[in-house]
Amino acid sequence: MPRYLDYAATQPMRQCAIDAWVSASGALNPGASYASGRKARSVLDDARETVAELLGCEPIEVIFTSSGTEADNIAIQGLFRAAQSAAEERSKRIVSTPIEHPAVLETVEKLRAEHGASVDLLPVDSTGHVSDLSALDTQAALATCMWANNETGAIQPVADITERAAAQNTPVHIDAVQVAGKLPINFHELGATTLAASAHKFGGPRGIGLLLARRTPAPLPLAFGGGQERGIRPGTVDVASASALAAALRESVAEMEQENTRLTALRDKLQAGIEDSIDNVIINSAEPTLASHLHVSFPGTDGDSLIMLLDAAGIEASAGSACHAGVNRMSHVLEAMGIDEEHGRGSLRFSLGRMTTEEDIDATLAELPEIIRRARSV
Ligand code: PLP
Repeated sequence: MPRYLDYAATQPMRQCAIDAWVSASGALNPGASYASGRKARSVLDDARETVAELLGCEPIEVIFTSSGTEADNIAIQGLFRAAQSAAEERSKRIVSTPIEHPAVLETVEKLRAEHGASVDLLPVDSTGHVSDLSALDTQAALATCMWANNETGAIQPVADITERAAAQNTPVHIDAVQVAGKLPINFHELGATTLAASAHKFGGPRGIGLLLARRTPAPLPLAFGGGQERGIRPGTVDVASASALAAALRESVAEMEQENTRLTALRDKLQAGIEDSIDNVIINSAEPTLASHLHVSFPGTDGDSLIMLLDAAGIEASAGSACHAGVNRMSHVLEAMGIDEEHGRGSLRFSLGRMTTEEDIDATLAELPEIIRRARSV
């Protein structure tokens, strides 16, 4: 079995999610008013209520989507379009950050290139945290910021962002895909307008995500159809996956505190071991950060070779950099942190999760010095 250290990308389904999925797999159309429809509806209602209770919102604010990517798209495009009806200058302005996941980055870029949006990015410091919120002091159609970065794990000041934006009446979207199941979330206390999460990041199935959306301002839909999910995300809902999502979220929230303590110890051991055994490394994950993430640059290497060498040694991690048209380039996140191509091109993101053991860390530390030596010698 490979040693899997890529939990930030996806993780194995939890047994409770598989059980919930199997048990609800026969559910028919939850929108139908006859008996089998009512039965499916009651399973879906239970899932929605569980999510609402765990994430601090009302059931009606829970919208099931196909992924985190879809939730981000509906929120950002939908809030932007909702603001257009205001027909003021502010309705074209978007505040974002340079370290967003492509689901947000590319969506904002599309609105800029094709729909006349003007975009202001909140600056990020060398630790990967948003450092200056003053762009929020001017009204905008929306502001969007991730709760924690998928590459470095850096936790962003989202409560300060929603507070600053609220003073200008600017709606805020929070991409909480890396955070759901790892940090406590209370949607109402946070004061965000919308929030995205994704089941496969906390042990639910791939192919189902969540959008939490307040009643007003609500995003306008991107797709049209039968009016399901408040008309914001029409289409017959996948009841079995919604039920599995709710089961996975419940278990991850219940284990959260204990897991964060356990993973912090493993992550710190990995970091200390790397710093002790390998020269010239740059640790890109800085507090406050998720317990699961360790992002490291090894100058003199490139990400693709590192992944291949690790894979050959039975260790699965991510390059922590984007591969554009086959060319391994440094990630936009490191670039925003002020790291240059020479230092950042050879980077690895180790991300730990519920099945990571001390043996996985020891095995990685046993292999890594030789892998870096080989990668540096080509
Ligand atoms: N946002 C962040 C921060 C992510 O890490 C990811 C997935 O890596 C996404 C959005 C997209 O989620 P999904 O894979 O469910 O489309």
